[in-house]
Amino acid sequence: MTSKNKIIYAAWPYQSSILGVHNLIPMMRADAYARFSRICKSKVTFITGFDELGSRTEKIAKNLKLRPIELLEKLYPANKDCLDKFSISYDVLGRTSDKYHYDFVMSVIEELIENKTIIQKEDTISYCTSSNNELVGSMIKGTCKNCGSVAIGDQCKSCNLLMTHNSLLHSKCTTCNNEVKFIKKNSWVLDLNNKSIKKNGHASQSS
Ligand SMILES: [Zn+2]
Ligand SMILES: [Zn+2]
Repeated sequence: MTSKNKIIYAAWPYQSSILGVHNLIPMMRADAYARFSRICKSKVTFITGFDELGSRTEKIAKNLKLRPIELLEKLYPANKDCLDKFSISYDVLGRTSDKYHYDFVMSVIEELIENKTIIQKEDTISYCTSSNNELVGSMIKGTCKNCGSVAIGDQCKSCNLLMTHNSLLHSKCTTCNNEVKFIKKNSWVLDLNNKSIKKNGHASQSS
């Protein structure tokens, strides 16, 4: 078999809790392929890591009375240990909070803003009336206006209605049970009318 350079990725699990078997299965699959490729004399770079963004991390940290970064610093050694105990043969173990990751993502976003692929648009944002924190789907519960069921998150599990700020009646914050208020605000959104998206089917950086 001829020698090749290969970059092998395993999905980056959210680092909001200790890894579970469902996180390790894709890691083991990628690990098996990386090991096989090395035996076949391919030059392998096996990359994986932890996604430290997302509202779930913020919510769990708040329940534990920690700042998100404090929760992440506690979880990282335990989750790295988990991968090492399963002998996952990664070459690079990244974190979305790493400076190089932050700098790269910011450079992509700045370019997408510059070429107007991402634009500002007025949107209705939900806030908890008690904490004043912004609330995303899983942080809001209420009554589905379509079928009358109790619904949490982005979609009603009973009638499949996709939730927007006005799809739920009697909206409450799932953390503290206080009412939800809605404020119109400018948000950054992908401009689906952008020429580069229409042409390529995805957002692209200019070369
Ligand atoms: Zn419903
Ligand atoms: Zn609240």
